[in-house]
Amino acid sequence: MKNVIYQPFINPSLKGRLWTVCCLLFFTCCAQKPKTEVKADYNTKQWTELTSLDNSIKIDIRYATTNNFTKAKMYDCDRCFLRPEAAKAIAKAHKTLKDKGYGGLKMFDCYRPKPYQQRLWDKVPDDRYVTPPWKGSQHSRGLAVDLTIVDKNGKELDMGTEFDNFTTKAHSDNMDLPKNVLENRQLLRGVLEQVGFKGIRTEWWHFAYQKKKYDLSDWVWQCK
Ligand SMILES: [Zn+2]
Repeated sequence: MKNVIYQPFINPSLKGRLWTVCCLLFFTCCAQKPKTEVKADYNTKQWTELTSLDNSIKIDIRYATTNNFTKAKMYDCDRCFLRPEAAKAIAKAHKTLKDKGYGGLKMFDCYRPKPYQQRLWDKVPDDRYVTPPWKGSQHSRGLAVDLTIVDKNGKELDMGTEFDNFTTKAHSDNMDLPKNVLENRQLLRGVLEQVGFKGIRTEWWHFAYQKKKYDLSDWVWQCK
């Protein structure tokens, strides 16, 4: 007697359906779930949140705390936004510092919405310390930053004064300072000028991006 190999008969269309069911089961149960994309809660054509480019950049937005010269919390929360070109440039400067062995940049202030500039002005209506809202600060255009450098342990380098110190000691053309302070300031100025920022005479921490112009903005970021 011939050997008969038992072959269950499955008609081709049923076979096809079984395959489909198996595939569906595999993809619903076993296949890796696609990563849930974090949707930005702001207009990414107009703005970039700095930490979205590099989350090793330290954020210490002083006006979102009481640790600032007004001693009051002026911003609802601490997020750091800049115009896209300026944000990319800051991320590049941060990387340069990290490559040199530093921890990188620490941001004290970034984009400052016009309504927040108004709050500052209402608190301190003195144009020696606060730019009048109608004049408009580069911060309110999303092009200015207040920042310093941290070492690899996260400690701020000695820049001679604290942020928002309004004495001549904070002036960037003040050469009557210890050698290491002058070197630290030169390091900050050097990496920022390399990526298109320019400092001002009275505040060692303030730099504005020069390669692009933007209008003042009223947009205020959401608090998470
Ligand atoms: Zn500033």
